[in-house]
Amino acid sequence: MLRQHSWYAWVKTTLLLITFSGCVTPSSSRIDPPEPHHGAQYYSSLTAKLLGSDTSKTLDYRLIDPVIFKGIVQENTLTHPIADPAKIQRLKANSVGITVDDQTIQIDLQWVRDRSIADSVEYQIYLYFDTTTGLISSAHGEPGTDSTTSPEYYYQSTTRVAHPFVDSVRLNWILIGQVHGHPARKDPGQTTAHHMSPADSITAHCLQIPVYAIDAMDKQSGSSEKMHRIVPNAASPPADDTTHIGSTRGKNFVAKDSIDIGRQALWIWGKSRLLDTACLNKNRHKGRDVWFTH
Ligand SMILES: [Zn+2]
Repeated sequence: MLRQHSWYAWVKTTLLLITFSGCVTPSSSRIDPPEPHHGAQYYSSLTAKLLGSDTSKTLDYRLIDPVIFKGIVQENTLTHPIADPAKIQRLKANSVGITVDDQTIQIDLQWVRDRSIADSVEYQIYLYFDTTTGLISSAHGEPGTDSTTSPEYYYQSTTRVAHPFVDSVRLNWILIGQVHGHPARKDPGQTTAHHMSPADSITAHCLQIPVYAIDAMDKQSGSSEKMHRIVPNAASPPADDTTHIGSTRGKNFVAKDSIDIGRQALWIWGKSRLLDTACLNKNRHKGRDVWFTH
């Protein structure tokens, strides 16, 4: 598969995340922009970044070729929603609706929680956006240790986005978020904190994605449990995180505060920057393979 796409420079790499076990108490401030309540939101089929929105009365997330989008709309659509009915009609005709496979995502969130608590290692899933279908869903990554997980991805230098590595490189998928468990430490002298770690904020910054952690240090497998989140470009990393943004559903589907984490991840990725290559190179996990193909 790599040879078929040899005009790209690929980097298969990983980032190291370390579960925070110290005594620093981070502040809890919400810095991501609020999600919109109306208007079609147009996302690029190349990068899954937000291209702009229109003044439609209903809220709608749509996938469109960025070249076609630019051909229809020339103005800065990130600051001024498109109001011209003729342009809106053309945009709608040339785009498809974005959907969320929330059932798979909710099952996977609970899977991260249950596996992490059962094995005392950090299990992880990737939140991805399929650029061919407009589907947001999740996939299992490789588990880590009791204090680390390493997202595996291919960095595409032409578009500066990351594709998750799930058995093989997924060229149609763009990495828009990562979720991992925070289990109890195997060393009885260390405790796992109920919030994001400094390493999580580095990952969020390098990959420009929201990173989520699920408490897996107490209670039983199958119970609903709290999720936390760090967003890219936090004002003062690593302290600027958001604790308890929602809960996993539990085996009895009892969570009252489950969230549409897939759409939230797309919203945050859609408005973040492209990948920070200097940050990626600096924080690459030295113990893993790094592949370059040309
Ligand atoms: Zn973490």
